[in-house]
Amino acid sequence: MMEYPLTLKNLLERNRLLFSKKEVFSRLLARDFRYTYGDYQKRVRRLANVLKELGVAPGDRVGTLAWNHHRHLELYFAIPCSGAVMHTLNLRLFPEQLSYVINHAEDKVIFADPDLLPLLERIAPDLKTVRHFVVMADEGEQLPETRLSPVHSYEELLSRAPEEYDFPDLDEWSPAAMCYTTATTGNPKGVVYTHRGLFLHSLACAAADMMGIREEDVVMPVVPMFHANAWGSPFVAVWMGSKLVLPGRRLDPGSLAGLIEQERVTITLGVPTIWLGLLQLLEGGAKYDLSSLCFLLVGGSAAPEGMIRSFREKYGLYVQHAYGMTETTPLATLTRIKSYLKDAPADRFYRVAAKQGVIAPGLEMKVVDEAGREVPWDGKTMGELCLRGPWIAKEYYREPERSAEAIRDGWLHTGDIVTVDEEGYIFIMDRSKDLVKSGGEWISSVDLENTIMAHPAVAEATVIGIPHEKWQERPLACVVLKEAYKGKVSKEDILDFLRDKVVRWWIPDDVVFLEAIPKTSVGKFNKKQLRQMYAEGKLATG
Ligand code: AMP
Repeated sequence: MMEYPLTLKNLLERNRLLFSKKEVFSRLLARDFRYTYGDYQKRVRRLANVLKELGVAPGDRVGTLAWNHHRHLELYFAIPCSGAVMHTLNLRLFPEQLSYVINHAEDKVIFADPDLLPLLERIAPDLKTVRHFVVMADEGEQLPETRLSPVHSYEELLSRAPEEYDFPDLDEWSPAAMCYTTATTGNPKGVVYTHRGLFLHSLACAAADMMGIREEDVVMPVVPMFHANAWGSPFVAVWMGSKLVLPGRRLDPGSLAGLIEQERVTITLGVPTIWLGLLQLLEGGAKYDLSSLCFLLVGGSAAPEGMIRSFREKYGLYVQHAYGMTETTPLATLTRIKSYLKDAPADRFYRVAAKQGVIAPGLEMKVVDEAGREVPWDGKTMGELCLRGPWIAKEYYREPERSAEAIRDGWLHTGDIVTVDEEGYIFIMDRSKDLVKSGGEWISSVDLENTIMAHPAVAEATVIGIPHEKWQERPLACVVLKEAYKGKVSKEDILDFLRDKVVRWWIPDDVVFLEAIPKTSVGKFNKKQLRQMYAEGKLATG
């Protein structure tokens, strides 16, 4: 066979040759915008010329600080296909983390949305390597007043740039993109994606038993393009020629439901909190035609079984559960219900649907106990999930010590504690640090909170371990009630609900009712903050 490099150029070229009539929809701050992939291709080439003009050389890192929109999609291909490395910046990081990652990656140019400039201005004095800022204001729109310098207008640069550009033939091992993941302790850790890794990951995502993204699909990534490359969906959609719907910064359930209805979205991707919001909107009586949807892809944290069930039974919508991490590009497992399990009784069906799924084709997994021995596939024994394969990180960027800690003997040790059942479905019980260690036994906070979220009055719930003299740790449930139930449901009601669903020693010692559960920069329950609030006496227990 030929030695053919697996690079993103193939994705871009296939799109150019075959799909110039297909559309991209983009929600901007002030208006909705749409154009064809034909127009997209021309602008990607102009943008590649702009990068050259700004002095971006092969291997240089280029930052993006942006919502999901068409300009961000242009950067997604112009940067890597011209040989540079796209560094997507998480706009929800704390300022000091943001300046850390920009300096650590040594970003040379940053492309930013106009509404995010204040964030950059705050950290600008600390940025050591950035030579240009490019503001992605709309055509004809005045650039906002800014202290950043030198600053350019994206549209102006593009309008002056030539439309011809020959993308180079790159080595498949060359870096294409990078992304930092926030660590529980210490600075964020960088993961570099090679062209080869992204190519193979995109193939796996497109496979029918994985995301199954086809030309006829209309794909709406709600997951930010800075969160593990929107789980790879922009790369796959461009390759397959699927219409993309990019929802910008308006991510409230009503706006999203409106877009699904208006653009006839077939596949949409997001974290559970997004879909819990949509479910509440529908349960509140809002009417939208969501019949175009094949499935809602959910990942990033555990999708509660109750949510999956409600969507399907009340609205006929299938929630497809997937698991991965920044280090795994990210797709690692996905739950397709095997053919012979499809007609299983409802309880069994939803139990499987709520699991994180089976290993993606192309990857390998093993689950090991503390001594490194593989645990049996019995759906009960917990162990740490380890992964290897062509889109699994082999190191953190310029972090030899932390790399050696996580990647050992050729396996990425994910830090996720799971069980595997007889069918090979993995179920994430917890991050190893979030497990509640009670009297030498482990309680899965995820399992417990999902059980609580099945209570009809509960909007959101999370469980943390709090120090206990005798048992070392005990679970504490933090619960947000749905509006209609506030003041009408007591701690005892919640605990009673659990009594026939979990073993006695799993029942939380206490329940606190909150207005909202604090979230991390990528929309997950922020257990670190809750533990801190508890330590500071800010969670009213007792
Ligand atoms: P990140 O790199 O920010 O995407 O975080 C990755 C981590 O999120 C994983 O190591 C898991 O702990 C968690 N995670 C991702 N997907 C899921 C899922 N479907 N269910 C439970 N946890 C998940």
